[in-house]
Amino acid sequence: MQPEKTDVLVIGAGPAGTVAASIVNQAGYKVKIVEKQLFPRFSIGESLLPRCMEALEEAKFLDAVKARNYQQKNGAKFEKNGKICNYFFNDQFTDGWGWTWQVPRADFDHTLAKTVESQGVPVEYETGVTGIVFHPDGTSTTTVEDKDGNKREIFARFIIDGSGYGRVIPKLFGMDRPSNLPPRKAVFTHIVDTKRSMDDEPDRITIIVHDKAVWIWVIPFSTGVTSVGFVADPGFFDQFTGSQEEIMRALIASQPYIAERMRDAEYVFEPRVLQSWSATTDKFYGDGFVLTGNVTEFLDPVFSSGVTLATVSSQMAGKLVVKKLKGADVDWDNDYMKIMQQGVDTFRSYVMAWYEGTLDTIFFADDQDLEIKRKICSVLAGYVWDTDNDYVKNHDTALKKLAKTIHLRDSIQYINNGFK
Ligand code: FAD
Repeated sequence: MQPEKTDVLVIGAGPAGTVAASIVNQAGYKVKIVEKQLFPRFSIGESLLPRCMEALEEAKFLDAVKARNYQQKNGAKFEKNGKICNYFFNDQFTDGWGWTWQVPRADFDHTLAKTVESQGVPVEYETGVTGIVFHPDGTSTTTVEDKDGNKREIFARFIIDGSGYGRVIPKLFGMDRPSNLPPRKAVFTHIVDTKRSMDDEPDRITIIVHDKAVWIWVIPFSTGVTSVGFVADPGFFDQFTGSQEEIMRALIASQPYIAERMRDAEYVFEPRVLQSWSATTDKFYGDGFVLTGNVTEFLDPVFSSGVTLATVSSQMAGKLVVKKLKGADVDWDNDYMKIMQQGVDTFRSYVMAWYEGTLDTIFFADDQDLEIKRKICSVLAGYVWDTDNDYVKNHDTALKKLAKTIHLRDSIQYINNGFK
């Protein structure tokens, strides 16, 4: 049998795959998505960042997403021992979106997939990629397998791998590399949140500092359901025993900020566990393919960077694939990988500063410098490519310097107050 032919084969119908497919399709090329699972399917990553709105807009997904009436997200609230620090995206350094959404991902991803289908891109569900052969001219023949074990081939001029944790091309071609971040574990569920506060929620997410390097996400949805998850070094969870629900209830009971509100809450599903998610790869592209989204690198959930990096990388890669299909030369290294790496590295500095406690010092300091706060807010909004922002440009040093200045100021004040 002759293989099916397409200009671009996209692997995975998550946010990365659908955004990339839409952009290539809009340029008039034939695109096909193969997706291993049947949608709607559960996925984690419910808190978006304003920067991803630009990618959703370019993919022409915004109207469909707006119609789902998801909870608007205006900012992020950090809590530690009763102290609160709010960041509001409409008060940030970079010009850009001042809000985004908190989304149940099964519904959100299904909305994006249905929208890209309505734009004319076929999505073949329950069809996984099992092998790829690249030909010398960069074209490829991909073997896919459906749920009944039937195999067939798809010939493509170019492949966009948006397979997320599936990491199809890195795994098939030995490009997978371990991350330089230590392994972490998350235990999470969705609760029916009848005691939700309406004062400083639900229009933002809350990140609670539970203990050193142990934190909790609280992400309210417009449905009255709230996502709650604990993230820590895997060893932290060893002190808790029992079923996943018993462990989750004990975790919640141990955190005063949510214990009362969530004590008797009904769980929408048995708490789930994920761990050791950070991964990276040598290269984000090769002859005949580009990697987008989580396949390139996934760091850590703390600053909700995953979907933003997934959609922005696809927005960028999709346009470069179009350029390539038109016959132009593409400088993948400078025009894609280095730019994406800079965004990832900026988030990496913030993730490391979070786990080292540097960001605690900054977030919960008294008398904060509002101009600096606006610059940090831009990073938290996902504007990690704005190098006019010195908290982006000098991401690896700026936070440490700021924390040192705060410590020094506090020490001087302590001395001036007679050690009180
Ligand atoms: P995915 O959404 O994973 O989509 C990839 C798709 O590819 C899947 O549907 C999969 O079925 C398909 N696929 C896999 N293998 C194959 C194959 N062989 N053939 C065909 N299809 C295949 N991000 C945020 O932005 N905000 C958050 O609040 C957040 N919280 C997180 C919490 C935790 C605990 C973790 C671990 C991650 C979190 N993330 C968060 C990250 C987020 O989950 C991902 O970054 C995001 O889903 C990446 O999107 P993607 O499109 O690259 O991949």
